[in-house]
Amino acid sequence: MQKVKSFIIDHKKLFPGIYESAINGAFTYDIRFVKPQDAVYKGIFMDSKVAHTLEHFMACYLRTKTSEEFSSTVLYIGPMVCLTGFYLLTSAHYETEFLRKLVLDCMEWILVEEEIPGASELTCGNYQYFDLSGAKEFIKNQIIPNFKSDNFSSRYPFVEE
Ligand SMILES: [Zn+2]
Repeated sequence: MQKVKSFIIDHKKLFPGIYESAINGAFTYDIRFVKPQDAVYKGIFMDSKVAHTLEHFMACYLRTKTSEEFSSTVLYIGPMVCLTGFYLLTSAHYETEFLRKLVLDCMEWILVEEEIPGASELTCGNYQYFDLSGAKEFIKNQIIPNFKSDNFSSRYPFVEE
């Protein structure tokens, strides 16, 4: 049986960063906010309400607060169910440094916002399931320091065959 590419990535050695994870007609970026080993052993990962909050803000930012040239290539943004990061799918290729800056700009924007975009019964599947202050804490304590760190990576560590 063919192995799924993400299953041959050594998650024990994976650092926060942005990784190009697949090209199947779309470019897929693994936006990893926290180190999986910290999630497993220190309990550092997004609460699911925090992930939902970030999902609304990131979708809004990428689709409405970036250039038309960029926003028109955004196909999907959403959280990983392991709660350590997000997936971004685009129809054009981007350098990880460009996306790193974009994510940091988005996080700075969220920190000053008081209202969650699209958080209404009409526009969301679970419109009371949010945590804005928790999201801001996670941004300040994890995402921003990790994305400004020298340990930020864009090269996947693969499992030794
Ligand atoms: Zn929602």
